[in-house]
Amino acid sequence: MNIFFATTEAVPFCKTGGLGDVCGSLPVALEGLGVRPTLFLPAFRQALESGQPIEPTGVHFEIPIGRKRVVGEYLRSTLPGSNVPVYLVEQHGYFNRPGLYREASGDYIDNCERFVFFNRAVLEAPALLGLDVDVIHCHDWQSGLIPTYLQTLYADRPSLENVTTLYTVHNLAYQGSFWHWDMELTGLGWEHFNWQELEFYGRINFMKAALSQATMLSTVSPRYAQEIQDPPMSCGLEGVLRHRHADLAGVLNGVDYGAWNPAHDAFLPTTYGVDDYAAGKAVCKRALQQEMGLPIRDDVPLLANIGRLADQKGFDLISDVMPRLAESLEAQWVLLGTGEPYYEQMMQRLAAEHPERVAVRVGFSNDLAHRIEAGADMFLMPSRYEPCGLNQMYSLKYGAVPIVRETGGLADTITDATETTLGNGTANGFSFADASAYALSNVIDRAVRAYRRPDVWRQIVQTGMQQDWSWDRSARQYVELYERTMAKAPAMA
Ligand code: ADP
Repeated sequence: MNIFFATTEAVPFCKTGGLGDVCGSLPVALEGLGVRPTLFLPAFRQALESGQPIEPTGVHFEIPIGRKRVVGEYLRSTLPGSNVPVYLVEQHGYFNRPGLYREASGDYIDNCERFVFFNRAVLEAPALLGLDVDVIHCHDWQSGLIPTYLQTLYADRPSLENVTTLYTVHNLAYQGSFWHWDMELTGLGWEHFNWQELEFYGRINFMKAALSQATMLSTVSPRYAQEIQDPPMSCGLEGVLRHRHADLAGVLNGVDYGAWNPAHDAFLPTTYGVDDYAAGKAVCKRALQQEMGLPIRDDVPLLANIGRLADQKGFDLISDVMPRLAESLEAQWVLLGTGEPYYEQMMQRLAAEHPERVAVRVGFSNDLAHRIEAGADMFLMPSRYEPCGLNQMYSLKYGAVPIVRETGGLADTITDATETTLGNGTANGFSFADASAYALSNVIDRAVRAYRRPDVWRQIVQTGMQQDWSWDRSARQYVELYERTMAKAPAMA
């Protein structure tokens, strides 16, 4: 089974979020199951500077973009810890930039043509590089035109005969929407600008094109697969998603325990496992308090959050409850993230007002993210929606008890601690349903009360630490999905 991954992120080459974690680790797990994955990435500056060994192949190609012909080259590398080939599509003008998709002032204005170029470069590769492919596994809007191209401009290519597509939605809210005149850049005729293909409210929409044209569809948790069939989570795309619900699967992301395991995590001051977690976490907590400039205290719970400071992640709820809790609750807070300037400033202001309780680091730091998971007692994820979420699964392994809103992958992985779930040994965190500051404040209160009962707390922590959310199970589900995809004729335009 030859699977192409068409993706814009894969650790350790380039990453802005969960997509990078998934595409860096799923192919390795698939290789272990006898699948032959090959990765395609744009040669972003972040990838070129990642320190990974990257070689030129000497294979150049040319893609028509509107009236221009744009030249590129395939570079070659390998996913660390595997034999999975990685081809990086080099086009300095498009990809050798500070950001992947955007700069400080907003999205790059030529994103449509940048990713048209990338999509077509993936489709040129089998012939030019002599590669076999059965399924092209496309990820998010950035590879959303591949299914349409396969049925149009590339339909007659012998190297692509019988190739089918699986399209995975990692976040439905980012759709790749461009004004209609960009049709000229795609090379597709205007006959494809219609409600069943590329057009969505008068604009080109890469996500919509993929949802309607890919052979099979999936998203990153069973709950999110359900949720996106109805407003508001459907982001306007409920029509096509309901139409295709029989072809839509939900497969939870897995965790790469090679990188995220407190038993052998080189970023931590000490390692620990499920039996000695109390002593290990105490050391990590003190070190974290010191690193973040908080008073060293064992007796108060430390709540943490890492991620994009955005409404999606529930920062509007956090910013409602935090000022009051920072005053009244005997607890410490550690936040690491970047995002909306409004939230960045608000968090920094809170830290300045409550230096003994709140510490904030605005920025992106993988090392610190590991140390926060290890030092924290609780991990807060009150997301408004969460396709899968990885941090709650990392938190389970590190014994930082997740407090989550019951949505998407958070609902599929976290079992709220109640009398029943504590009784049957399934409780691994706390969750709440209502997206309100009141409900969030209540659940934090419940968690802090449980923290004060050592037996209960130990049970919740150890239940989470013992669970296995690795790729094993999910990678098998992807193999089944590839089989279903190959057994189906490509969807017709
Ligand atoms: P997203 O919606 O952003 O993809 P996920 O929970 O699926 O959310 O994945 C986010 C990933 O990015 C996690 O590995 C998380 O640790 C990491 N991450 C996000 N923001 C930061 C940051 N500021 N510093 C370090 N890691 C971060």
